[in-house]
Amino acid sequence: MNLPKRMLVANVAWAQEMGRREPNLFRALAMGQKPQVLWIGCSDSRVPAETITHCAPGDLFVHRNIANLLHLDDDNTMSVLEYAVCELRVAHIIVCGHYGCGGVRASLLPPADTLPHFNRRIRPLCALAHTHHAALARLPSEEARINRLVELNVLEQVRLLREHPLVRERAPSPLVHGWIFSLNDGQLRELESGFEPETTKAIAPV
Ligand SMILES: [Zn+2]
Repeated sequence: MNLPKRMLVANVAWAQEMGRREPNLFRALAMGQKPQVLWIGCSDSRVPAETITHCAPGDLFVHRNIANLLHLDDDNTMSVLEYAVCELRVAHIIVCGHYGCGGVRASLLPPADTLPHFNRRIRPLCALAHTHHAALARLPSEEARINRLVELNVLEQVRLLREHPLVRERAPSPLVHGWIFSLNDGQLRELESGFEPETTKAIAPV
């Protein structure tokens, strides 16, 4: 059986299993969506948003592109942000990068002649790498440089989102979080939280 055929067969089994586990699921999904989270992640096949967070259909509104970049002049990216914030009124926006990202790796190498679209897409990453060139150059290995740039990239996308009028001027404003996924152990790490840091509660004198 070829792969697409196997996927269609697997879908039948999945639909039956989901229907058994949650008899009202598909009826509820057919009525509409009310996701709480906009997920902006990398297209990398190893970082599937719903799988790594144990989320179900209806939980996440997802936008994925190479190296989880927010392109402010790209209608694809911006229409997803606009719809998520203005129509779905998501409470959270999560930017999720991952260590070992191929898009980030490419931004530290000479551009590939065969990939003009790809090269254009990762231009902001090349600029970010240039900005942090001195700090990156001090790191001991290529892997360390890539992984640090992965982190800087997530922080940059979080900054862009927080500063964007669609997010900033919304009341209440969605909280923007920056996460990193590690392919080595399958775990997510919170790089930047949208929540205020917990203040130390004053202890009343007795
Ligand atoms: Zn990636």
